[in-house]
Amino acid sequence: MNNEKTIEERIKNRFDSVLKTALRVVGSCQTESQLVNAYTWAVDVVLSLSDLVERTESPAAARFAHTYKGYIINQVRNLYKQRQGDVRAIPEIPAGKITIREVEPHISVCRTCNGKGKTAHVSGRKCPSCHGSGRVKISSTVKSLIQPYDPEKEDARFAVGMD
Ligand SMILES: [Zn+2]
Repeated sequence: MNNEKTIEERIKNRFDSVLKTALRVVGSCQTESQLVNAYTWAVDVVLSLSDLVERTESPAAARFAHTYKGYIINQVRNLYKQRQGDVRAIPEIPAGKITIREVEPHISVCRTCNGKGKTAHVSGRKCPSCHGSGRVKISSTVKSLIQPYDPEKEDARFAVGMD
């Protein structure tokens, strides 16, 4: 009896160690596909361990493993279900190329005063945006993320441009 207790304890520890790893892996997933893979992997590991114990240990130990694996899988499944909501909220960012383009500074009509150089409401006062010239110099840095476009996956909300 005492001996069986020790064996149970030993098997319990092996399952608990697998559970700890499984929860850590499932808990760290960032995307839905990662999560599904992690969950499938974790259940597989638990079932393999249970199978090993059921084949190699005493009948009492095998019975214990058979019952305890259900508890372990339930724990993993609970975290899996809880995390499903999280990963759906995190948009999956497919690989892409980021380009940064410096746009040459150019002169444009001042939007604050519409090119008049003076504010409309205070007569004689210089426009704070263009200091009275009616023009501003605009410099830009354009950061673009370039990704493959898959019509199967995306809706038609993007207009097709040629730049
Ligand atoms: Zn202005």
